[in-house]
Amino acid sequence: MTITFRMQIGASTVTVWNDGHFDLPRAYFLGVPENVELGETVPVGANLWLIEAADRRVLVDTGSGQALQARFPATGAALADLSKEAVTDIVLTHMHADHIGGFLGNDWGDAPVHVARPEWEFWTAPGLLEATPQDRKPMIEMIQMVALGLADRVVLHEGAVDLGDGLSLVPLPGHTPGHSGVRVASGGESLLIIGDAVISEDLHFAYPDVGYALEGDPALAAETRARLFAEVAASGERIAATHLPFPGAGRVEKDGDGWRFVAT
Ligand SMILES: [Zn+2]
Repeated sequence: MTITFRMQIGASTVTVWNDGHFDLPRAYFLGVPENVELGETVPVGANLWLIEAADRRVLVDTGSGQALQARFPATGAALADLSKEAVTDIVLTHMHADHIGGFLGNDWGDAPVHVARPEWEFWTAPGLLEATPQDRKPMIEMIQMVALGLADRVVLHEGAVDLGDGLSLVPLPGHTPGHSGVRVASGGESLLIIGDAVISEDLHFAYPDVGYALEGDPALAAETRARLFAEVAASGERIAATHLPFPGAGRVEKDGDGWRFVAT
């Protein structure tokens, strides 16, 4: 039975699903300051969200499903317990395997799948597979296989977009070309789901410049991260992120030259 956590945002309900966790090799993190001690692996969470807003049930990301279980056996847990029939829409923060793997081998009915256009066009570009180094080809093949199955119901969006019922897509580029957050707003309250704009709680709040091996554009990812932290620290808006420890929601506060995460 998957562990869940419910949050009330005005009249909308956000349920966080625990999709397990990843023990990432420390080598995935680049430019870590010398005074920071890391173990051989860096544990991170794996969260996904089901938003109930008006009469919609909007799933944000599908988790990794079985896509990564050979290498990361503690992931993909959430899918078995999610009632797929009840989902009216799916929004993807981006198209990495740990966010779309849940589509593999699962019938999600006709629910439209909302994706930022730059994200979709990057991963489905005809020349991408050939241009990818051999060791990364399986990842591209998996993403393109999922994309093929979604092609008839994907809804592509440009920039910041109102998705209705208090939900909106917020561009947070860098991790991937079309990486996006999802804002849930209702009754004067809001929560910004930031996907993979942060990976490690211990590293990224204090040192937003620390890179991550899977970032498409590390400089832009770092810039987006710092801008986002400054904005939500100033506004007090709550955030939620995929790889923060479950349930992965809280506020950001200024802390010296960086920031810190205060879980709620
Ligand atoms: Zn991720």
